[in-house]
Amino acid sequence: MIKLSLQNIKGIGPKSLSLLNKLGIINVSDLVNYYPYRYNIFKISSLKEASDQNIVAAQIISNPIVNYIKRNFNRLSFNVIMENKSIKVTIFNRAFMKTNLTIDKKVYLQGKYDEKKNTFVASNIFLNIPDNMVQPVYHLTSGLTNQALTKYITSALESYEQKEILPSYLNDRYDFISHNEALKIIHNPSDANLLKKAKLKLIYKEFFDFTFKVNYLKYQNKNISGIKKEYPEDLVNTFISNLPFSLTEDQICTLEDISKDLTSSSKMNRLIIGDVGSGKTILCVIAMYANYLAGYQSAFMAPTEILAQQHYNSINKLLAPFNIVTELLVGSMTKKEKDNIIKRLINNEIDIIVGTHTLIQESVTFSNLGLVITDEQHRFGVMQRKLLSEKGSNPDALYLSATPIPRTYALALYGDLDVSLIKTKPAGRKEIFTKVVDFKNLKIVLQAIYEELKEKHQIFVVSPLIEGSEESDLESVNALKEKFQKAFKNINTEILHGKLSNEEKQNIMNNFKNGVINILISTTVVEVGVDVSNATMMVIFNAERFGLATLHQLRGRVGRNDLECSCYLISDYNTERLKVLEESNDGFYISQKDFELRKEGDLFGTRQSGTMNFKIANLYSDGKILLQAKKDSEEYINSKEYLNSSYYNDIIKEITSLD
Ligand code: ADP
Ligand code: MG
Repeated sequence: MIKLSLQNIKGIGPKSLSLLNKLGIINVSDLVNYYPYRYNIFKISSLKEASDQNIVAAQIISNPIVNYIKRNFNRLSFNVIMENKSIKVTIFNRAFMKTNLTIDKKVYLQGKYDEKKNTFVASNIFLNIPDNMVQPVYHLTSGLTNQALTKYITSALESYEQKEILPSYLNDRYDFISHNEALKIIHNPSDANLLKKAKLKLIYKEFFDFTFKVNYLKYQNKNISGIKKEYPEDLVNTFISNLPFSLTEDQICTLEDISKDLTSSSKMNRLIIGDVGSGKTILCVIAMYANYLAGYQSAFMAPTEILAQQHYNSINKLLAPFNIVTELLVGSMTKKEKDNIIKRLINNEIDIIVGTHTLIQESVTFSNLGLVITDEQHRFGVMQRKLLSEKGSNPDALYLSATPIPRTYALALYGDLDVSLIKTKPAGRKEIFTKVVDFKNLKIVLQAIYEELKEKHQIFVVSPLIEGSEESDLESVNALKEKFQKAFKNINTEILHGKLSNEEKQNIMNNFKNGVINILISTTVVEVGVDVSNATMMVIFNAERFGLATLHQLRGRVGRNDLECSCYLISDYNTERLKVLEESNDGFYISQKDFELRKEGDLFGTRQSGTMNFKIANLYSDGKILLQAKKDSEEYINSKEYLNSSYYNDIIKEITSLD
């Protein structure tokens, strides 16, 4: 496939090239397939109906004044005539527009009108009526504006024609529009009906490709024989009865599935789906213990170093008393340390290895790998899953997922896997008290934090940084840290952010776990996937930036103890949606609600860290399309039609190149 270079696109130079690369956009095809996650739908309205969506026209009657409130924070104000009234307009962080706003000029404002104060608090100023009243909004990176990205995509679409990939008989069957047309519409929708058609095509195509891979693997893996393991069951049972708790019903069922798989002569390929805190990890520990008793090594792969470290600690604690040797292998270790671990793995001096992607590197070899486990498996691609398995001769494979999806969808997505569901929660788990609070009532949250600190409990704070978003009204995390330290004396607050090295992150996490840090402010969600049993409170700023499923997962970081735990969602927007979390602690229910409550314009949902990496498809709203695409891709494989497509042949080469 010819990949057109981005530098051929008007306006893209070395600097913007590297910014685009940061977003994973490497060639022109990536660029045009980078979809907006939302649209701003503008409407011209009267002052009475002014809002962040609607636009009100005004004429400037005074020179603007800028107040610098603190670093990176300023307020611009000026007077206008709107609907024959003289009104004061204020807007934050637009000092740079000052020279454009001259007396008599016409401007178009979005925002809210406060009648009592006769002030219009603007969220956006336009110097012209936007050409297109539906404006795509893209995920950005610092230094790249939405406007620039829109321009690049528009000019790419002018010179680039997306080849039709989907087999033509399917396009005919469903009367799909062409891929190329769909792209043009998705980036610049002119009418709702066309947009629907474009979405349908792209969603179907995305699911078709995904299920094609999964189905192809299934077809290839049919009846792969595995290792028939023998181990003394009574030892495993003793281990289970010595746990400080008894297993839930669903845990027991899942364990039965696992032991059947382990002792059968075909290869285990099992996915465990269970809400956060439902107790998936302990089942893995039991499985690894059985695997050890049968005489085999286990590998456990986690998506981040922090998670790997955490799993390593808890596995080691449970299994070291049985003389089981567990080690950690992660990227940040020195070459010498890694080499040493790798040598011991080959020599069978290590029984269980826990690690990150590092585990699938070529140099890692096992003596007799019998079981591979992948945590948060949606973060790894089909390929990576396979790579780990290839480290042994058909080792049993177990995958974990905290994304609560119904079984039928799970089967379509993971056609090559068997699925066990854990729906019951461990006994005695209390509901986490959850409250949505707006910024002006922040005091309530501070009071609650104060109470928890008094009890020597710890607190997670998540404050999302959306890089490069101009209209960002986020409090800088540094200011937040200062605020907390001022409000609470003798309190240690630390910030965990994506730019820290793994070692620094690990240090901070250790200090939080050990209680040295009282309040941990995290700017990225990924790093919060850890257990800190003394943490009793989760505070999430600008909670509207996350999907409900993600918020639910974040909330699941607390409540892993028998203390009363709480979660505060701080937001001024979309609070109705957030209130679902006040109502429920059930991940399946929450995910379902999440898509029901989506708003117009909010087409593809919020970026979810908890779900699969689909660019446009949504499991909950598009489940039916998924099931159809799965059926069709099976048919496509069975008919051997794919042999005529270079695109699908390339995909097959990619999946099978490992053999
Ligand atoms: P998950 O991996 O599904 O998010 P974990 O396995 O980490 O959940 O379990 C969360 C916590 O609950 C752990 O501290 C674990 O020891 C504990 N746990 C697991 N199963 C039970 C159970 N049946 N009863 C009580 N506590 C349990
Ligand atoms: Mg887990």
